[in-house]
Amino acid sequence: MTVKPLIVGNWKMNHDYVEALHLTQQIGVVLKNKSREHVDIAVAPPFVDIRSVGSIIESERIPISLSAQHVSMFESGAHTGEVSVNMLKRLGVKSVIVGHSERRTMYGQTDEVVAATLQAATRGGLEVIFCCGENLEVRDSNDHLSFVSGQIDRAFSGFDKKNFSMVTVAYEPIWAIGTGRTADTEQVAEMMAHVRSELTGRSMPDTRVLYGGSVTADNAAELATTGHAGGFLVGGASLKVESFMAIVEAVDDCYARNR
Ligand code: PEP
Repeated sequence: MTVKPLIVGNWKMNHDYVEALHLTQQIGVVLKNKSREHVDIAVAPPFVDIRSVGSIIESERIPISLSAQHVSMFESGAHTGEVSVNMLKRLGVKSVIVGHSERRTMYGQTDEVVAATLQAATRGGLEVIFCCGENLEVRDSNDHLSFVSGQIDRAFSGFDKKNFSMVTVAYEPIWAIGTGRTADTEQVAEMMAHVRSELTGRSMPDTRVLYGGSVTADNAAELATTGHAGGFLVGGASLKVESFMAIVEAVDDCYARNR
């Protein structure tokens, strides 16, 4: 466990800007009372909350970074409903989630769009959290490793090598997202090793590989140690300060012990 783990709270379409402000302030209070120096923390609020959350992070010097849940692959122009890389950067956003399974399955985000978005975001200076992961059918037919390899292949086929350092990969089996059914440590360890070897083959050996899918404070430490997850993308449990910070605390504690 050498690279500092990253824990990202994906708020999805939850919390209006008042609720978002409140949650950010609560996170700030917890971190003021006990800093968590062994983990990096980010939150990904809905677009409409980004400005207020960013202002609080800055004014109260909260040691977390701002992420976005989506970005357009286009720079500007006639793209109703979309938000550009530059718009996010101007608001202090540091990273963006790309290829989340909800965007792929509900909003028709194809592998081509994912690849173009990864390129556009990193070219414009945004770090990316690239999501991959199989559905239950693929898992049950034992094709999960080759399926994820294919997703990685297609996502990074035309990717500029000099931007590899801006990439984090999040393995999120679809059957574990929002279902309460977490992948077990063996399944996570197997996929972490597989993704890391895929990335090493692409000269991306230092890329952080996160796990996402029903992570809670009860399973986070084990998934980080035995499962070798390099951090977590957290949905449901990131919506309340207690559950989110309990995950942060669990991972920080285990990294502090294993230094
Ligand atoms: C997610 O959507 O990225 C996610 C991991 O959600 P949950 O933690 O709720 O399973």
